[in-house]
Amino acid sequence: MTEKVRVRFAPSPTGYLHVGGVRTAIFNHLLARRLNGTFILRIEDTDRERSTDEAVDQILDSLKWLAIDIDEGPYFQSQRLELYQSHIERLLSEGKAYRCYCAADDLAAKRKQAEAAKITYTYDRACRKRDPDEDPGQRPYVIRFKSPGEVPDHFDDLIMGRMPIDSAKMDDWVLARSNGSPTYNFCVVVDDADMKISHVVRGNDHVDNTPKQMLLYQALGYPVPSFAHMPLTHGPDGSKLSKRREKEYRELGISISVQEYRNMGYLPHALVNYLARLGWSHGDQEIFSRKELEELFGLEHVGKSAGVMNPDKLKWLNAHYLKQADDAELAELVVPFLKERGIETVADDTLRRIVNPLKERAKTLAEMAQMAEYFFKAPTQYDPKGVKKWFKPIAFEVLRRVKTQLETLDITNEQAIEDAFRLLAEELTDTKLGKVAQPVRLALTGVTFSPSLFLVISILGRTESLARIERALLELENKA
Ligand code: GLU
Repeated sequence: MTEKVRVRFAPSPTGYLHVGGVRTAIFNHLLARRLNGTFILRIEDTDRERSTDEAVDQILDSLKWLAIDIDEGPYFQSQRLELYQSHIERLLSEGKAYRCYCAADDLAAKRKQAEAAKITYTYDRACRKRDPDEDPGQRPYVIRFKSPGEVPDHFDDLIMGRMPIDSAKMDDWVLARSNGSPTYNFCVVVDDADMKISHVVRGNDHVDNTPKQMLLYQALGYPVPSFAHMPLTHGPDGSKLSKRREKEYRELGISISVQEYRNMGYLPHALVNYLARLGWSHGDQEIFSRKELEELFGLEHVGKSAGVMNPDKLKWLNAHYLKQADDAELAELVVPFLKERGIETVADDTLRRIVNPLKERAKTLAEMAQMAEYFFKAPTQYDPKGVKKWFKPIAFEVLRRVKTQLETLDITNEQAIEDAFRLLAEELTDTKLGKVAQPVRLALTGVTFSPSLFLVISILGRTESLARIERALLELENKA
């Protein structure tokens, strides 16, 4: 019988959910789906000072938005302290851990000395030799792991391959601090063992922790899971994502915070597709449905180099999924983006008609809302290039004649509007429809590109279209 696949995502709720973090969640989730496994969420909140409820909510919200459904959990490490304590006691009683009473100041000074001499600092194990029954009274102590003398020379990583282990770094590391709080490296082993995690898939910023953790599994007599360390997610310039550069990222259309992608108007599956493909490949295929990802994703095809974010590719994917989305869904999704622009509306039939042509043009929902603006608000200015090109003397005649037509036409009938425009073109502009349509388009939208003008007119309706044409005529008069 093959081992049951159990994977986990283990974020620390100490700020916004990081885009690299959610990529780890996606890889784990897809692996679980492909191998009929279980995806577990564990909130690593032992650092009580830095962990917040808002950050937990944000993690849960973002996972929900991205349809990363949780099979088990969320477990909270802060609620599992007894389990950690019982493991500490076991390790102490088995002589695999010991109390260290060395003063923090002394250790800090020794570390400084080592650093100055450019030597890797390790604890000198002074307390290891101490009789465990000898209790030096009320002095504070930490619990240290008694690192075994024999350390394997490497471990095999499912992504990184053979990873050498530097035995000089195998310190007697701290399992629990002097205030009793257990450390990350300790809790993660107890939890992964307790939750029967088969594959630890995480960012390769943890790769140096793995040998330490492996030794602890062995000391506790637990099976060691398989490890897969994912290359990190880097910014468009190839360097590590940096909070200080968030403004720059936003201008490009990316962010470190997952929540911002939603605010910028990306569709959840576009982000999932993008992040899954960042560092993983299946031939040169770029577009994957969720089902395809769940059937195809595997660690074998995850590369070893950092995933460099490419905002253009993300927008390209988003544009693709916008085109595919149905109008009713898009209308619902664009409402909050319109609201941000001061436009209060609901996802009614008119909005569905508006998003239909815009989804062919917009790259994000925010862009779609911007493009939809003139359907709700008359232009306050006209594109200057458009004015130069189209608000010429002949535009007077064109706009006046169109105005007359629109006064009586069946304004809901796009075909009737088009026929009227064609007739006018024949009469006024030698059948050049653009010469009639463009001044009207500029008058109605303020710009020279828009979806079908006849659709725009039928959506705006008679009163609004006429008012906008009047205003443009005034503008032309002032210019003349
Ligand atoms: N809480 C750790 C982090 O957010 C989890 C690391 C792990 O997956 O072991 O980086």
